[in-house]
Amino acid sequence: MAFRKAFVPLRTLNSLCRPKSFTQNISPQLPPLISSTRSFSSSPCRRIMEMSGFTESQLEVRDAIFKICANFPDDYWMEHDQTGEYPHELHAALSKDGWIGIALPEELGGAGLGIAEATMMLHTIAESGAGIAGAQSIHANVYATQPVAKFATPEQRQEFLPKLIKGEWRCCFGVTEPNTGLETLKLRAFAKKDGNTYTITGQKIWISSAQVAQKMILLARTTPLSSVSKPSAGLSLFFISLDKSHPGLTMQRIPKMGGRAIDANEIFFDNYPIPSSALIGKEGDGFKQILHGMNAERCLLAGEALGLGYAALGKAAKYARERVVFGRAIGMNQGIQHPLADAYMNLEAAKLATYHAAKLYDSSGKVGGPTQKEVGVAANSAKYLAAEAAFKSCERAVLAHGGMGYAQEYHVERYFRECLVPRIAPVSREMIMNYVAENALGLPRSY
Ligand SMILES: Cc1cc2nc3c(=O)[nH]c(=O)nc-3n(C[C@H](O)[C@H](O)[C@H](O)COP(=O)(O)OP(=O)(O)OC[C@H]3O[C@@H](n4cnc5c(N)ncnc54)[C@H](O)[C@@H]3O)c2cc1C
Repeated sequence: MAFRKAFVPLRTLNSLCRPKSFTQNISPQLPPLISSTRSFSSSPCRRIMEMSGFTESQLEVRDAIFKICANFPDDYWMEHDQTGEYPHELHAALSKDGWIGIALPEELGGAGLGIAEATMMLHTIAESGAGIAGAQSIHANVYATQPVAKFATPEQRQEFLPKLIKGEWRCCFGVTEPNTGLETLKLRAFAKKDGNTYTITGQKIWISSAQVAQKMILLARTTPLSSVSKPSAGLSLFFISLDKSHPGLTMQRIPKMGGRAIDANEIFFDNYPIPSSALIGKEGDGFKQILHGMNAERCLLAGEALGLGYAALGKAAKYARERVVFGRAIGMNQGIQHPLADAYMNLEAAKLATYHAAKLYDSSGKVGGPTQKEVGVAANSAKYLAAEAAFKSCERAVLAHGGMGYAQEYHVERYFRECLVPRIAPVSREMIMNYVAENALGLPRSY
């Protein structure tokens, strides 16, 4: 497996990870379970991660990713947030060692691991201080490729996936539309077949990384809504080229609140041609296929939210230990301690829910494994809980810093701006509650 090149032998890791630097902390016996340093030699909270039942391969992923991310300090992310420049160097470092293909088949150059390991990877990237922006630099390449790996023909897989894994291509995911929002089944972008070509007409919005992506995994309608027996029919999945110089394709960057290193875009298709070989699986099966990627995405985003929350809490705890007001560290006050302790416990609970969902995702499709609905309930619940826990941690981290929480220099304001994303995307809190009420509690569908 290519990514193993990045690994440090575990024996070495264990001795490296003994947290010498933690001895300076307030508690004389125990190191904090949250990191306030980004250095690999104190790979954050490895012990608590071991105790949380993570597998050896998840822990190896975590150690290796922290090592890569240690080359991208806080100031790198602050600068990229200010300039809006895509973090090409992180993408290059991750693809060089094969990490983009962590959950893609080995015969295509991937590592053949699962969403449980991929979630750990994105969790770790975010926790390193890269936040949601760092994680989103590869996010779609990891989850949106899942339905392609599962439903494409062997020839299509060979054509599409190895270049993404090597980092020669990047892909974005095109589902959301301005006029239909969360009502995905009503989406209007239409792919019309004519011989060996489809032409696409319609609009997508909020498409992340489209400025730097050569490819898009696109959901479009191929049979009009008025002609299908149920709204989930007649949608199709395509792996298309994004040729920005071609007539019929235009895009516009959306100025946004946070995670500015990753572009978000409005995209307009006007009779934009793609070959019929871009269709994945059977025409009309797109929605069923995409669910496979959507549950994976919820797990990954839950991991990203957790990482961001732990990063914020690490900064808050460090500041609370060091900042002296009224003759003592502010962290000696319960008014500072308790909100942070509460945020920590929320993150820990959400962490268990997240990796439970990822484990279910990886065992679905096996004999006796969970159904897609069971995975959906677990993955949606995990994304909800992790997003809420991250929000709590980031907000409290800003407040624990007092005025300095509002200064860019301390980074928590950036985290706070980013922590709203997991609450909104890829599915909102309200829609998760609608889904859980219906599918876990058997209540009537409310939307
Ligand atoms: C930073 C960012 C990156 C993104 N990246 C991508 C991407 O790469 N690709 C992509 O396809 N999309 C992307 N999205 C889009 C994202 O998935 C959508 O914004 C999200 O699904 C919400 O859709 P919407 O904005 O249209 O909200 P709307 O559907 O307009 O909903 C607005 C609000 O109304 C609430 N609401 C609507 N109906 C109900 C109901 N029945 N009951 C209760 N509440 C309801 C919603 O919960 C929400 O709070 C991104 C979004 C953001 C912010």
